[in-house]
Amino acid sequence: MKNIYSNIHSFNKKVIKKTVLFLKQGNIIGLPTETVYGLAGNAYSKKAVKKIFKLKKRPNRNPLIIHYDKIKKANQDVILNKKFFKLYKNFCPGPLTFVLKKNKFSKIASSATANLNTVAIRFPNNRVIRAVLKQLPFPLAMPSANISSTLSPVNAFDVFDDFKKKIKIIINDGSSKIGIESTVVDLTGKPKILRPGIISSSDIRNCLKVNLSRKKSKLKSPGLLKKHYSPGIPVIIGKKPKKLEHAYIVFGKKFKNLSNYFNLSKKADLKEAAANLYKTMRKIKKKGFKKIFVAKIPNLGPGIAINDRLKRASR
Ligand code: AMP
Ligand code: MG
Repeated sequence: MKNIYSNIHSFNKKVIKKTVLFLKQGNIIGLPTETVYGLAGNAYSKKAVKKIFKLKKRPNRNPLIIHYDKIKKANQDVILNKKFFKLYKNFCPGPLTFVLKKNKFSKIASSATANLNTVAIRFPNNRVIRAVLKQLPFPLAMPSANISSTLSPVNAFDVFDDFKKKIKIIINDGSSKIGIESTVVDLTGKPKILRPGIISSSDIRNCLKVNLSRKKSKLKSPGLLKKHYSPGIPVIIGKKPKKLEHAYIVFGKKFKNLSNYFNLSKKADLKEAAANLYKTMRKIKKKGFKKIFVAKIPNLGPGIAINDRLKRASR
């Protein structure tokens, strides 16, 4: 029988070599990270960046995060500052994205940053993406590997669901450990969280020992688009379903084990809940439920990121 998943590969030296070659030729590859799976292309190539926007049907004004394995390489494209080094030391490689000023020698395609004079950079902490980045002479522009405004992918088969054979290689490294997108912090002025994530604003405040800005950002940020992370069926927050054909996302041990109940974390662990969020919404959709109701999730730490995604999914 023909293997329909023939473009999904496991992690080995041979596949990394092929991936590096394909990326050098300007192709787009599906790669795992610890947050969600990404669609990766050469950030220095206008053509590769164009392909990413087209594949995702992503509006051109939404800039992409640029991924590096080393500070030394990032230094060629952005102006690093003291706050960056402090945060890097504490949290990187990891699920934290920094918005910094672009430097004048930067080779990043201007379309990748939506013509802004800022760049969002991240140092991901997954063995596959790190092995690929290590062998490349350029950084990777890499948004989540899904059609714009829908649920982010948390395993290789989710990526396949959206793009089928349109991408030559998808590397499978199991479920994304974190399961939601990185925290985005703007360091071009007074530090400001543009998108909440597992690394919380208090983690950042404690590390930098300064208060964060709460002002509305002027920067255009795709993660801040009103409707995003949509499962394609209505999401209703804070209410209980009345019918069995409606799914109920719950959190904590007080909920029953009913067939339409999906518990993000029985032991009420917000990190575990974040890792289960997209996985659970995809499962509910695949099972044919018509609506998703969501119980209250505590709005602290990773709960802030979970509620942010749920709120946008409900619009
Ligand atoms: P996504 O690719 O969907 O994970 O979203 C990228 C995130 O990075 C958005 O939420 C933006 O906040 C942020 N971002 C990317 N590039 C820039 C940039 N040049 N300036 C400001 N924010 C950016
Ligand atoms: Mg995305």
